[in-house]
Amino acid sequence: MHFDDDDMHDTFDDLTDDMGEASAFDAALGTRVAGRDYDAEEQSLLLLDQSHAWHPYTQHQGMALPIPIARASGAWLYETNGRPVLDAVSSWWVTTHGHCRPEIAEAIAEQARTLDHVMFAGFTHEPAAELAAALVARMPRGLARVFFSDNGSTAVEVAIKMSLQAFANAGTPRRLIAALDNAYHGDTFGAMAASGRGVFTTPFEPLLFEVARLPDPSEADTLAALDALIDARGTELAAVIVEPLLLGAGGMRVWDERVLQGIRTRTRAAGVHLIADEVLTGFGRTGPMWACERADVSPDLMCLSKGLTGGFLPLGATVATERIFDAFLGDRTRTFFHGHSYTANPIACAAARAALTLHDDESEDARVAIEVAQAGHLASVADHPAVRAVRQLGTVAAVELAGTAGYLSDVGRAMSAFALQEGVLLRPLGNVVYVLPPYCITLPELARAHDVIARFLEGERAKDERGGDVD
Ligand SMILES: *Cc1c(COP(=O)(O)O)cnc(C)c1O
Repeated sequence: MHFDDDDMHDTFDDLTDDMGEASAFDAALGTRVAGRDYDAEEQSLLLLDQSHAWHPYTQHQGMALPIPIARASGAWLYETNGRPVLDAVSSWWVTTHGHCRPEIAEAIAEQARTLDHVMFAGFTHEPAAELAAALVARMPRGLARVFFSDNGSTAVEVAIKMSLQAFANAGTPRRLIAALDNAYHGDTFGAMAASGRGVFTTPFEPLLFEVARLPDPSEADTLAALDALIDARGTELAAVIVEPLLLGAGGMRVWDERVLQGIRTRTRAAGVHLIADEVLTGFGRTGPMWACERADVSPDLMCLSKGLTGGFLPLGATVATERIFDAFLGDRTRTFFHGHSYTANPIACAAARAALTLHDDESEDARVAIEVAQAGHLASVADHPAVRAVRQLGTVAAVELAGTAGYLSDVGRAMSAFALQEGVLLRPLGNVVYVLPPYCITLPELARAHDVIARFLEGERAKDERGGDVD
């Protein structure tokens, strides 16, 4: 790959030659965060970023400057100027035990000095073998084989490919996948195909493979639709993929355990695989270790990522039953021909092993305390006129604001800007604001996040009373 180091400095040098650093900064950058001044180091960091980096889910035209973060600890991020920001969303749902937990940091440092990486075809190592065994030991019954990849999307791709190929290998090919409306399974093509349709998927729509859609179980009769699908196309159906009990990115929509049990009963009877995408719900997020555990359901395939390394390193895992694994035994054509350069990276596995060890009784108690406290906070805003609904599952609390629904809703952006000013990181999904904290958060810290939401709601009420739009 060609990387022209000079390029890196062109924009900055050109600008600073002409105008001097501060005005170059102002000319090159759009919207400053209100009231924020930047010293010379911060300015050059932001100039480099704005000249060369491309951010996820970000409209770069007219974007607010990203917040430069220097370090993190526990539930807190620290800006380069030292200002603390409470991470009430676990940095996109990955940070489980808290930022920079020393046990995980040390496991990573030690592994990096011992064995950085080795390809995982034809080789193995202690971190991967021990992690696989430790994961299986905590899995719902029947899940026995761990396939490593790099993130949640690839964990989903792997699960879908395993299901399809298991049928192909058995000589009874099935090609149809069913998924829930409002589901989110990631941004790669297979994961997008399985995800609900929206602004994320529109440009790619014609290229996404056919997926049978089942209605969102938080608002419709999914089981009746599944019965009809199995009646009509049961022998074509390879797998049903679900985010068990919580449609996360779709707006933190909570759904009933009995529906998950019903999906399990029906898929088992029809010989259809059940894929549980626990990328968000895994590792204690919904209370017990897995959301499937809440419903006492064992899927055929489970996808893991996000909390797997405690939020330190990218790693994905797809856990399969021995039966699915067995469908790949035989001659070479039955092989699962899938892998990634960094499959089972030892450093990531060492981080995951350390993170898993931290899921002890104490951590479980902390989650229960968070759950109880969140319930209290939600109860105190449930009847507010600016609130349409409140929802909770385990450590996840969500407030659906009155106003336009959908990912591009403006009320969420206003909420997020307000929270940031108050030193709390919240990133609403459209008009749904949620608190999804690292388990190390203290109850006063948690109260602070909810206080910011309550004060925002008061502002919305005041606007409403003045006759403005609630939006
Ligand atoms: C975040 C998420 C994914 C995608 O994971 P990435 O690591 O972002 O690719 C898949 N499924 C669910 C349920 C998720 O929440």
